[in-house]
Amino acid sequence: MTMAGRVDKDELTEQLDLEYWFDRESLAHKVSRGASGMQINAKDCPKCGDARWRVYLNADTGLGNCFVCNEGFNKLKFIHMALGHDPDDRKSWRLTFDHAKECLVEQGWRPKQRVEVAVEYETATLPDSMELPTKDGRNLKYLEDRGIIGELAKFFHLRFCISGKWWFTNEEGGRGFQKFDQRVIIPIYDLDGTFKTFQGRDITGLVLDKKYLFPKGLPGTGRYLLNGQSVQRARRAVMGEGGFDVFALKLAMDGEVALRDVVPIGSFGKHLSFGSAGGDDQLSRFRTLKKQGLEEVTIMWDGEWKALLAACEAAKLLRQVDLVAKIALLPAGRDPNEVTADVVRRAFWEAVPYSQSQHIKWMLKDPFKS
Ligand SMILES: [Zn+2]
Repeated sequence: MTMAGRVDKDELTEQLDLEYWFDRESLAHKVSRGASGMQINAKDCPKCGDARWRVYLNADTGLGNCFVCNEGFNKLKFIHMALGHDPDDRKSWRLTFDHAKECLVEQGWRPKQRVEVAVEYETATLPDSMELPTKDGRNLKYLEDRGIIGELAKFFHLRFCISGKWWFTNEEGGRGFQKFDQRVIIPIYDLDGTFKTFQGRDITGLVLDKKYLFPKGLPGTGRYLLNGQSVQRARRAVMGEGGFDVFALKLAMDGEVALRDVVPIGSFGKHLSFGSAGGDDQLSRFRTLKKQGLEEVTIMWDGEWKALLAACEAAKLLRQVDLVAKIALLPAGRDPNEVTADVVRRAFWEAVPYSQSQHIKWMLKDPFKS
């Protein structure tokens, strides 16, 4: 079995179900409740070969030891030795990791979605800005405080503009500029990864009217899907509104193995564009994604009545291109960026499939008012 995606040693250790592994390898063992949680009592010690049930391992962490030879184990070390490898033989660890990965995949583990689509843009087309994290690995505190760790900033190709201008040519042929100072630059790509435009998100909190700034002279964001380039052949997507909602969705989906196949995308507004000549709109892009294998879209906009009714309209459109549309309800007055990952996941699990009768129920009664 081949593994798409990488897994590091920590995640391998954390996610691998040791009980599953004992069963899979048909190794004699008993599971019982010990002082510190469930423990596995193994018949054979891979170190000394004693076969009198003297090895005890914590079922979660794999930490434990043999009471005959006193050898200490952790999950991977036990597996490594049980496979007949020497812990000092560095080469054979590769085999153990591959073996453990294979088990993870059997368990239903999936890697976090990483940058899979080669995106292209010339930084010259952006306001003067630096990539995040920086070359020496630093990230903005503003992002870190919101859970947008370096790995995520990199996934979304975020940049930071300390002070920079975007030059454009106006309709009369004159040159003008917009300042993107103190903004996180969020590049926007088409489904195939070509750079189309960008947004600048203010991080000072002092800009009240233009939290998100859009560059003049580039195509409007309304025809694209934020992170649409990552959908590829995914079966499920979850759709937030703005950039920071999409980042929060990614964080939440990555946090649970069963949700790692769900690709977060953004609509840029509580509306899906459709009906443009030549199909240069969001619905046409969903049609393309459907052809590539997308089956289901869960809309997760703000927890408020107007947004919910807008989501119903969007869901109706998604159904026109044969997608299953679901609507997730967040707590009243909140968007994905304002709640914990747990709350996002719960809303996702409890999302309601769109139907006309459900739509009418919601029209008649605001579910955010109790
Ligand atoms: Zn032993």
